[in-house]
Amino acid sequence: MTEVRGWCPDLFRPMQSGDGWLIRVRPRLARVMAEQASAVSAAAARYGNGLIELTSRGNLQLRGFTSGSATEAAGCLAEAGLADPDPARERRSSLILSPLLPPDGLAVAVLLGDTFAPSPLIDLLPPKFATGISAGRFPLADGQVDLLIRPLGSQWHASLGARSVLAAVEGLPAAALSLLGGSPPMRKRGQAGAAPTLTIGWHPAAAGEASGGAFGFGLPFGQLDADLMHKLASLAVRHGDGLLHVTPWRTLLISGVDDAAVPLLRHALSGLVLDADDPRLLVSACIGAAGCSSGRTDARTDALALLRLGVRAASIHVSGCAKGCAHPGPAALTLVGEAVRDGSGVYALVRDGPASHTPQSDGLDCAQLARQLVPDRGGSADRS
Ligand code: SF4
Repeated sequence: MTEVRGWCPDLFRPMQSGDGWLIRVRPRLARVMAEQASAVSAAAARYGNGLIELTSRGNLQLRGFTSGSATEAAGCLAEAGLADPDPARERRSSLILSPLLPPDGLAVAVLLGDTFAPSPLIDLLPPKFATGISAGRFPLADGQVDLLIRPLGSQWHASLGARSVLAAVEGLPAAALSLLGGSPPMRKRGQAGAAPTLTIGWHPAAAGEASGGAFGFGLPFGQLDADLMHKLASLAVRHGDGLLHVTPWRTLLISGVDDAAVPLLRHALSGLVLDADDPRLLVSACIGAAGCSSGRTDARTDALALLRLGVRAASIHVSGCAKGCAHPGPAALTLVGEAVRDGSGVYALVRDGPASHTPQSDGLDCAQLARQLVPDRGGSADRS
């Protein structure tokens, strides 16, 4: 098995991390059927350490495998229809989609996948290149992908930097492929895109939609475990149409939900992020020392401690080290793990910048950070 750090891992190309090997499932059309979600749960529990993360590409990342168990899990998940059995086609199949794409958007996604999967041109793109389809009620944000495809009037528009084409649905994939030659321009790295709050809560069916509404929710730091994934699969069948939709904002939606089921879902999912004003939506945090050999602090535990202490900002990034994996771009407050002191992580503080920038101050544990950042505790309000 080959380590592929520096590339985006997938089901057949695991990446080594502090808690073993990790693999990524790229759900087709940004959704998984309940039985596929159960297969993910079973593979995570049986072969990995049970941890599952939602990624900013709308993938499911399973952690804690050995080299051998990652291969076994990949076989089970491919059998469940969660990957193209051909690793080369699977590698080229990454698309970032608006969740709950309308039918014409789904048609574009299918055609685009069928065009890109056999194309060696896709292999020449930079590893982090992202192609996205933005349509319907949850549009992708400017800068969230490199090649952006969206409806324009009765046609579809594909844009890549200053290059763009307009085509009907059937002609769009070939037109989009024609933009990729040479040295394609890349978006500015680290733009996070729209806030996840858009997807949280109850979304009644749009006029003319027969499929019912959708209920969106978040997982703290985009992380769940195998048991919760199994429970979500059951809830999608009991209260929805059996589909779970992944979003590029690390949230999930259950579709086919009528309004009578909303209180039942809220009760069943209590403890998760169910409201758009939940402060946990402000925070990005990597797994840190709990699962990464580079981590100097338990970033997620400290992030929750900081929220309990009243730290708030437009965006907060707590990182286990200066690599800043969970949020490569700038945040209003970025805390970079340095060490652990008396049970608390100790952090360097960067305002309005990414984890790699020179900090304004350092050596601060959670209590000291709260005193500096929370007005009632003697700090100054964040400027964002
Ligand atoms: S930011 Fe550092 S600690 Fe966090 S996942 Fe990346 S390498 Fe690991």
